[in-house]
Amino acid sequence: MREKLIRFMTGRNGADNLSRAVSFIAIALLVIGLFTKAEVSRVLWVFAVLGVAYVYFRIFSRNVYKRQAENRKYLNMTSGIRAYFRGLRERWSQRKDYKFYRCPSCRTLLRVPRGKGKIKLVCRKCGTSFIKKT
Ligand SMILES: [Zn+2]
Repeated sequence: MREKLIRFMTGRNGADNLSRAVSFIAIALLVIGLFTKAEVSRVLWVFAVLGVAYVYFRIFSRNVYKRQAENRKYLNMTSGIRAYFRGLRERWSQRKDYKFYRCPSCRTLLRVPRGKGKIKLVCRKCGTSFIKKT
């Protein structure tokens, strides 16, 4: 059975970032649909089904080259958003040891250790200094 599956998937695209994103959106539409009026929920359901169909089409597609190009395009288009959320995650995991401040003149994010009292921060990018409590 396992071998059969492996043989079946050989030369096919499989799951990638774009497929995962579309399935996530499809699930989100279904969840939102639980809280909306029946007519709205029906429309969301149709989009979710179309999304899932598209995901399966991409997973089983033999045109791997084209699917990879689509996935690259998706990754390029969303790189800013994904970097933003990666930053949020990192700041959240470091929140006990560090405080984060934005430079008032160039908006660069500065990281300072917690518990040092009032200190003067100097922006490493533009050299602006400002006082903050840590
Ligand atoms: Zn600055």
